[in-house]
Formats: sequence, structure tokens, C-alpha cells
Amino acid sequence: RTLLLVQGLRASINGTEILKGIDLTVKSGEIHAIMGLNGSGKSTLAKVLAGHSAYEITGGSVRFEDKDLLELAPEDRARAGLFLAFQYPIEIPGVANTQFLRLAYNTIQAQRGKEELDPLEFDDFVRKKMKLLDMNPDFLDRSVNEGFSGGEKKRNEILQMALLEPKLSILDEMDSGLDIDALKTVANGVNQITNKDNATILVTHYQRLLDYVVPDFVHIMQSGSIVMTGGKELALELETRGYDWITANKRPVA
Ligand code: ADP
Ligand code: MG
Ligand code: MG
Repeated sequence: RTLLLVQGLRASINGTEILKGIDLTVKSGEIHAIMGLNGSGKSTLAKVLAGHSAYEITGGSVRFEDKDLLELAPEDRARAGLFLAFQYPIEIPGVANTQFLRLAYNTIQAQRGKEELDPLEFDDFVRKKMKLLDMNPDFLDRSVNEGFSGGEKKRNEILQMALLEPKLSILDEMDSGLDIDALKTVANGVNQITNKDNATILVTHYQRLLDYVVPDFVHIMQSGSIVMTGGKELALELETRGYDWITANKRPVA
């Protein structure tokens, strides 16, 4: 079942075209990796899909299930089941993480017409999820992202993703700055969460995350286009041959 259908997507910021015709189809049950050098437009694609207001859409279309995604406000995209973990998550001093997570969870539940959880019920629910993800429940009581290490921030995003049960998650540079333990936790979380009814897009500069989360498809971005698409072996090929090899071997996407 096709969850996301991106066709000829073009987007600009401050009059500069960054995305130059992106085609991407994501079906339920799939994990896609988007790789590419710094500045190739990976984060721009993620932000445009999330509905970031700084970007102007100058061409193409995006369908998310039966909806025209580009017509939806960011909060409606989240309600429809899109989740974007940001590269640099915000800090909210003075708000306990558990309150923040419960608010996020209940907002989505209410929008979906489902039951909200009171603090005790939520505590039970969140602890079960954390156990599943092999996470330490200590940081429920800390302020949102305040004083969190890079690894803790990423773990927290994965926890949010597990709680919100999105249909499509886009994780931008989830692996940047993580030590191997944090990387494994994050990867384990993605593996636990991904099932036949949802899908994940992993945006990553490096191959190493893909040792732990095996993608069904790897797409290489360059200068705002997807210049190559392959299976999981493409990431390994990239690792050994480098991005210069891509430039020399651009080939049409199958
Ligand atoms: P990636 O995530 O692959 O590193 P980005 O999507 O962050 O790439 O950036 C893609 C390109 O967009 C870069 O060349 C960057 O310089 C450019 N860019 C990003 N933000 C702006 C902006 N506000 N104005 C002009 N160009 C920008
Ligand atoms: Mg970048
Ligand atoms: Mg980026």
C-alpha cells in the first residue's frame, strides 16, 4: 500500500531552488534511507514534507495516503500520521519530559478521536514503551531536552515516535553525534516500531546506522535531486567508493 507518493517535487527558499524534482514512493512496511553529502538537500526534503513554512513549493505533488499533503497545515500532517524528528530538538526548561510527552500524546489522540490518558495511565503506558525500547525511565522526570546529551535527545525522539505511532516517520540525521550504544538504542527503536502498516525514512550522511537498521531502499541525493536508488547494498558501495563515484555514475532512477 502506497503511503507517500512524491512526484517532481520542487522547492525554494529565499528565491533559491533547493529541491529540483524529487520522485519518491514509500509503501507501508518499508524503510527508506536517504543519503547524500552535506548540502545536497536532505533536510530540505524532510522539512518540506513536514510543512516547514520557510519553503516555497514551486512544482510537483505529494500524496500521503488519499490526501494532498501540500494542502495540509503542519499540525494536520502530524494528525494524518506523519512524524518528523528534527535534527536539532528544542529545549523546554521547567517542563518535565513526562508532561511534555503526555501532552503530545493526548493531542494526537484527541485529534484522532481516541481516548486521552490521565497522568497515571500515561505513566504506565510510557514505561511499557520504554521497556520495549530498552530505555532508562529516569529521564521522564527531567526537563524537556534540557541537559540531555545528544544520545538522550535522540532516544527521546524515538520514544515520542513509539508513543505517537505515526504511519510515516522521517528521521533526519538520527545518528549524528551518537556513540555506539545510543546508536544501537535508536536503531533498535526504529526496528521495534516499524511494522507492515507503517514506514520510515531515515535521512543519514553515514552508512553506519544502516548496519543496525536495514533499509529496503537507499536513495542518494545530490544537488536537490535523487540521482541513484538501490537496495541496502548501495549504502555499502557508497561507503567503500565514496560520493565521487556517484557523481561519475549518475544513472536514472529505476
Ligand atoms: P543537507 O540536509 O543534505 O545537508 P540541506 O537541505 O540542509 O542539506 O541544504 C540544502 C541546500 O540548501 C544547501 O546548499 C544550503 O546551503 C541551502 N540552504 C539551506 N537553507 C538556506 C537558506 N535559508 N537560504 C538559502 N539557501 C539555503
Ligand atoms: Mg546538513
Ligand atoms: Mg541535513
